[in-house]
Amino acid sequence: MRQTTLFIADLHLNDSQPEIYQRFKSFIHDKAQDADSLYILGDLFEYYLGDDAITDVAQKVCDDLNNLTSKYQTKCYFMAGNRDFLLSSAFASAAGLIILEYPSIIVLDDEKLILTHGDELCTDDIEYQKIRQQLRSKKWQQWFLSLSLQERIAFANQARIKSQQHTQASKAEIMDVNQLAVVNLFKQHKTTLMLHGHTHRPAFHNFLIDNKQHHRMVVGDWHQQTSYIEHKNSNFQLSTY
Ligand code: MN
Repeated sequence: MRQTTLFIADLHLNDSQPEIYQRFKSFIHDKAQDADSLYILGDLFEYYLGDDAITDVAQKVCDDLNNLTSKYQTKCYFMAGNRDFLLSSAFASAAGLIILEYPSIIVLDDEKLILTHGDELCTDDIEYQKIRQQLRSKKWQQWFLSLSLQERIAFANQARIKSQQHTQASKAEIMDVNQLAVVNLFKQHKTTLMLHGHTHRPAFHNFLIDNKQHHRMVVGDWHQQTSYIEHKNSNFQLSTY
């Protein structure tokens, strides 16, 4: 019986970097086909501008995931990131994906595990949190999807440039999670395990809250490598290669 659960995030798949798609294909073949479940915790795509603007790579990924879920029976879950929050239920059902809200709680070995993309934990970045609130509102999303394709592409390009400038101008610690936000999320859900992406800082952080050991696991991005966390035999393992 298969008892392997995989977690990935921040692949940032796009048409100009076919090497990332190649890594994705290998990962599906080498790991995901034999796994029980695959959790994709956001930023699967560099951007997702609507179902009428689907990129070549997104179409291929949709077919691959459909194959993975139907032929290999791997259960696949998707939680939106800050790049692909417009990924629709139509795409999800074509790919066989089950959409998760953030944060989501799953149970592994009788332990509750908090899953999230992670951007909402970066509360030191006040400017970003303001934009995030706007982009995640239904009203803004409806307005954005009503724009022409040209306009949406122009907006996304502009947003990317601004985001790069903002990242370069900000102190490194501002772009990481805020420890108080992490503690609050743990307390809210009364558990000691959390797993997220977004920061592109793959690591396991172990620390005490109220004298109890807590674990925050961060999966890495795929820009230069493959990164995933695997849960198997009551053990979490981070692999980046
Ligand atoms: Mn992200």
